[in-house]
Amino acid sequence: MMIIYVDPPPKLTVSQQALVVQVAKPAVERLWPGEIAKRCPNGPTLTWVNQKTVQKRYEKALADSGQKSTGVEMAAFTNGCSVTFSREEMSLTYACNMVVHELGHVSGQPHSQDKRSVMYEFGGKVPECQFKGNK
Ligand SMILES: [Zn+2]
Repeated sequence: MMIIYVDPPPKLTVSQQALVVQVAKPAVERLWPGEIAKRCPNGPTLTWVNQKTVQKRYEKALADSGQKSTGVEMAAFTNGCSVTFSREEMSLTYACNMVVHELGHVSGQPHSQDKRSVMYEFGGKVPECQFKGNK
């Protein structure tokens, strides 16, 4: 058995993380067929950590590329084939859409100005990510 999570106990449990990825995958394949496999032959690496760690990784990537800190709080951060998610308390629907959005970045997608697109920066959605009683 491998223990990955050493921070405080997850709010989004490991089984919930697996569930949202399972639901998100078909949406990713529908929207950007074959892109993940092409860009990340070994599969993307998805990691859930606490919010502070997401922020730290984001700030480090900015600094490494010579950019200034934006001060924006990030719930998720994609760097190549590696995606870091915050596991702070959130609905499964929100988490699922976040996974699709970040895998969109892994697939080479930029942000969209269209509020109906899952690549909209603030809360884009796909129909696949529907969980009962969730928003
Ligand atoms: Zn984004």
